Amino acid sequence: MAYRFTDLVDIEAFRGMMKAFYAATGIPHGLIDSENNVLSGIGWQEACSDFHRANALTLARCRDSDQFVAAHPGGAPFVGYRCQNGLMDYAAPIVIDGRHLATIFFGQVLHEAPDLDFFRGQARACGFDETAYLAAIGKVPIVAKERAEAIMAFYAQLAQTLAASGRDRLRQRTEDALRDSEAHLQAILDSSPVGIGWSDIDGKVEYINNKFTELFGYRLGDIPTIDDWYRLAYPDKLFRREVVDRWARDVAAARVAGSEAPSLETPIVCKDGTVRHVIITVSWVGDHRLVNFSDITDRWSVEQREHARHSMLELIAKGASLAQTLDAIVRGVEAEDPSMLCAILLLDHDGKHLRAGAAPSLPDFFNRAFDGLAVGIGAGSCGAAALTRERVVAADIRSHPAWTNHKELATQAGLGSCWCEPVLAKGRLLGTFAIYHRQPRSPSENDLYLIGYAANLASIAIEHHQTQEELERQAHTDFLTELANRRYFLELAEAELARTLRYGKPFSLLMLDIDHFKAVNDSHGHKAGDMVLQELAGVMRKTLREVDVFGRLGGEEFAAILPETAGDKAREAAERLRLAVAAAVMALDDGTTLGITVSIGVTTLADKSNNIDLLLRQADAALYAAKHGGRNRVCMAG
Ligand code: GH3
Ligand code: MG
Ligand code: MG
Repeated sequence: MAYRFTDLVDIEAFRGMMKAFYAATGIPHGLIDSENNVLSGIGWQEACSDFHRANALTLARCRDSDQFVAAHPGGAPFVGYRCQNGLMDYAAPIVIDGRHLATIFFGQVLHEAPDLDFFRGQARACGFDETAYLAAIGKVPIVAKERAEAIMAFYAQLAQTLAASGRDRLRQRTEDALRDSEAHLQAILDSSPVGIGWSDIDGKVEYINNKFTELFGYRLGDIPTIDDWYRLAYPDKLFRREVVDRWARDVAAARVAGSEAPSLETPIVCKDGTVRHVIITVSWVGDHRLVNFSDITDRWSVEQREHARHSMLELIAKGASLAQTLDAIVRGVEAEDPSMLCAILLLDHDGKHLRAGAAPSLPDFFNRAFDGLAVGIGAGSCGAAALTRERVVAADIRSHPAWTNHKELATQAGLGSCWCEPVLAKGRLLGTFAIYHRQPRSPSENDLYLIGYAANLASIAIEHHQTQEELERQAHTDFLTELANRRYFLELAEAELARTLRYGKPFSLLMLDIDHFKAVNDSHGHKAGDMVLQELAGVMRKTLREVDVFGRLGGEEFAAILPETAGDKAREAAERLRLAVAAAVMALDDGTTLGITVSIGVTTLADKSNNIDLLLRQADAALYAAKHGGRNRVCMAG
């Protein structure tokens, strides 16, 4: 801080004080600043002002004296200079913080009575008026050397002390002002709506404002350096390396180039493990970084969720598979917070097991282990959530009862917590939606909202898929027997034929018609006839193989495709079916029972030009032959 003596000492008060002192003691003084301005002076001798300094010769001597004393500041508290004429000058430098601000002079005095003969000679040599000169010399105070030195020491100390306390006052004032302005600045920064950090070029974090702590939970002690901050805010090493470090290099380069540092939109992992989304901007203030964090979490989440919902609906509209749609939901939710690993499990058709739905971020061995697990208390958070139809939060998998049987598996998969929400539609359980974290962790309010939201998306997707499936099933199925209807049977038959032709495998088709079915209707009623049709479908299901495809072509006429089955084998299968039908005892509503027989026509694919229409005609012809042959029999085509 640059200051002059007059900045430190009230010079008017100083002059007044010295004047009073002079009046009491008759001891003169002078105070000259570093630029040779006379700041204060009293009792200056006429000998000096009127004679010595008014004469070229003696002035030169006076200057010698001035130079001598001025050249000595900083050493002893003061120096004394004895002029050739015996007059004494004393001087003391006033040095504050190593800077020579002023010199206080004391003089001129004589230590003893003047030698008047000497001064007479002096007057003659210099052309002074002898009488006047001697009178002036007579007025020079005579002060003994010890006393003069004591007075000088006092002067020096007085000026020095005054100046030093002035300096302290000034410094204090400045510090107060600085503190005030810092406090003011801090108040502004602390009440700032954006988080603010301040760090030096080596990455030492020197300041963070209240909003920063409010946003992320970290205090200055948590993040002494930017590296510490990076480690906590971006625990994902890959993200740190690929995104954050790269950006930090660009920010450093912007300082060197004098260009604007790029901003970064990024998730930040807070002290409590939650994630906030911010836009970070950096400005270089000299070699300090001023970093702003604008929180955009709410806006980001809304956009993100809207986006996830939109892409899910789009997938549904495009007729994407359920797996694809669920996968998109999981990825959409995970994008909101990369520390989350999500999994959707689907309730199996049996209503008792959970099947893998979508869990692209969890390890395969973990997903496989949970695929097909029974709904229940020992099957992780999701088994329990499916059982209770309530959200099950295992903040720490290691200690949660739902995980007792699977905690080793979770540890192997590196999972610490699992919060699971049942996926329901109008009270019906469809599956579960789970959010895993690598560390044990309790959900925040926002997390709970998110998991509910995600489960809802999953519910829309699954329910839509099921409705779609049901519509398709209904479109494909004969409502009475639940076998494939004619149209769907023909579709399946075409596909099976194409496959067979591709691999050059055999292929047979059989057609079946109930014998004298009209009579059943006539004697037992149409309803009994319907029951017979259902019973027959059951016999076909039981008797034919899983790979065989069968359907109801219409009325009491059925067909079946026997893939990879030729000639004799097909006849055997048809015969087995015929016998099974004949042996079946069909229970009717009225408690009576009934037996029926069927006639079957069989055809086998002969050459590659065959198509389903032709095969059906051939089988129909064989069936006609069976009827004509006496019914309850199998006839081969051709
Ligand atoms: P066969 O085939 O041995 O020559 O004699 P049939 O009596 O079975 O002959 P037909 O094909 O003339 O008769 C078929 C009857 O099947 C006619 C119809 O009343 C009955 N039928 C067709 N569809 C249904 C149905 O959905 N429910 C019931 N109850 N009867 C049906
Ligand atoms: Mg018939
Ligand atoms: Mg018929």
